Amino acid sequence: MNLTEALCCPRCRGPLCGEGPGRLRCAATECAMSGSRFLYANGQPVLIDFEASIFYRESYLHSRGVGAERDDTGRGFGKTMRSLIWGGRNRVAPRIAEDLATRLRGRDPRARLLVIGGGAIGAGVEKLYDGAIHVIGMDVYASPNTSFIADAHAIPLRAESVDAVWIQAVLEHVLDPDVVAEEIHRVLKPNGLIYADTPFLQQVHEGAYDFTRFTLSGHRWLFRDFEEIETGPVGGAGTTLAQTIRYTFRALGLGDKIATLLTLPFFWLRFLDPLMARRPNADAAAGVYFFGQKTGRGIGPKDMLDFYEAQAASPVRLKRKVRPPAAVGPAFPSPEGA
Ligand SMILES: [Zn+2]
Repeated sequence: MNLTEALCCPRCRGPLCGEGPGRLRCAATECAMSGSRFLYANGQPVLIDFEASIFYRESYLHSRGVGAERDDTGRGFGKTMRSLIWGGRNRVAPRIAEDLATRLRGRDPRARLLVIGGGAIGAGVEKLYDGAIHVIGMDVYASPNTSFIADAHAIPLRAESVDAVWIQAVLEHVLDPDVVAEEIHRVLKPNGLIYADTPFLQQVHEGAYDFTRFTLSGHRWLFRDFEEIETGPVGGAGTTLAQTIRYTFRALGLGDKIATLLTLPFFWLRFLDPLMARRPNADAAAGVYFFGQKTGRGIGPKDMLDFYEAQAASPVRLKRKVRPPAAVGPAFPSPEGA
C-alpha cells in the first residue's frame, strides 16, 4: 500500500479517488465531502474537514497554510538568547528518537513513522530523518518535511496504517487532545509505537492556538489505551523558573527582547535541572513525555494512584520493562520502491 492508498477522507474515513490537484476527492458518494475536490497547497493535498476544524479553507487558497510564517530556522536574536537561558532543554526526545528508530528498524526496514506537527524537524530528532525509516510528515501548513496537510482531530489515514507516531509539542495546540489520542490509536498498527511530549508549566505560545497543559499523570491518562514503555518530565523546574522570570518581565509590558535580556543573568537556573529528584521535578517540570505501545494493555482509573506513587520510587528516570516487540503486519513499501 503506497501513501495515496493509505490516505482517507477526513470526514467519512472512506477511500479517496482521483490523483493530484483538481482531481483528488472522497470516493464515497454519500459523503458530503465527495462533492468537491480537495485543495492543494504547495503541491500537497489539504485533507481537512473545514466544517469540523478551527482552520479556514481560505487560509489555504493562496498560501502554504496556517503557521507557515513560523520561523523554523532556529536562528534570529530571540532564539539565540533564549537558547542561552534554556539551551538544549529537551534531552529526552533525541534519546527516544534513537530508541524508536532502533525498534522500528528491528521490525521492518520499510516501517512508517507519522510525524504529527512535522512541518519543522524537532531539535535533536534528526535521527528519525536519516533515511532508514520512511517518515510521513503532516502539519497544518505545507513544508518540505510534510506529505499532506491535515487537522490532527481527523487524521486522513486508514486504520492501522503506520508503525509509529511522533507528536512533539503539538497537543497543547489542539482543542480536543482526547480525540487526537484516539486518532493516533486508530492509525497505529498493533504494537505500534507512540512518542508524545507536551508542555506542563509553560506560558502561552503560538497565540490563539494554545489551549491545554498536562501534568505527568494527566498525560499518562490521555494515552491510557497504550502500554507504557517510559514516561517522565521534560526539562526541569530550573528551566521552568527561568521561563517564568522572562514571562514576568514580559507581562510588565517590556517586550520580548528586553524581557529576554533581563532574564539572561538567570541562565544558570537550567543547570539545576539534572540535580532534581524525579517526582518533585515532575511536579514542576516544563513539559512531560510519554513513550508507549499499542498492545491492547492500557490502564484504568485505579492505576493512576500507583502511577503517581511509582514516580517517587526512583530518584532518576523510571524505566519500566516492556515486553519485546512482537512481529507487526506488513509495512508500506516506500513510494520509491512501490
Ligand atoms: Zn468522505
